[in-house]
Amino acid sequence: MSDGAPPIADPHDLARLIRGVADFPAPGIEFKDITPLLGDGAALRRAVTGLVGALPFDGVELDRVVGVEARGFILGAAVAVHLGVGFAPVRKPGKLPWETETETYALEYGTDRLEIHRDAVRPGERVLVVDDVIATGGTAAATARLVERLGAEVAAFAFLVELGFLGGRRVIAPHPTVSLVRYP
Ligand code: AMP
Repeated sequence: MSDGAPPIADPHDLARLIRGVADFPAPGIEFKDITPLLGDGAALRRAVTGLVGALPFDGVELDRVVGVEARGFILGAAVAVHLGVGFAPVRKPGKLPWETETETYALEYGTDRLEIHRDAVRPGERVLVVDDVIATGGTAAATARLVERLGAEVAAFAFLVELGFLGGRRVIAPHPTVSLVRYP
């Protein structure tokens, strides 16, 4: 890989269950639809164990998984169960019922916001951030800022799919980042 990223775990096995949908949700975007993979029990298990196995350290060194709405909840919760740690959701604005911290981040046009409960992660915790796709890295970077504002540390990021051509990995460097299916 030209950017020094680690090799893909098992690209053909999981990649064949990721459906590229042209022009969704907007013209020119190819949406990586992971629902065929989620619907296949063996593949879902391989994805979860693959993400944990790709981490550059032992899972016991983690205190919590943070997952990003909405597909990050599915994978993140499964990874948390596998690791035996708790799970905390990062959500779109106005969804969380209690006190929140908020981060604003740039989109291609305009901005968006993400929120986390103030007690979702504790100071000093080592957190793994999980999402289905890293594209530009803006979502992941905003999530890291929320985690760090609560006094915790982002130990690593884990993504099922990495759109390497959008350079998200560089945006969240130097945090360790693992992905299982990479589109260079
Ligand atoms: P970004 O902030 O640009 O890295 O975008 C990452 C977030 O947007 C993740 O929560 C993804 O679920 C979603 N996303 C961005 N691009 C795509 C894509 N091509 N296919 C599916 N989801 C995407």
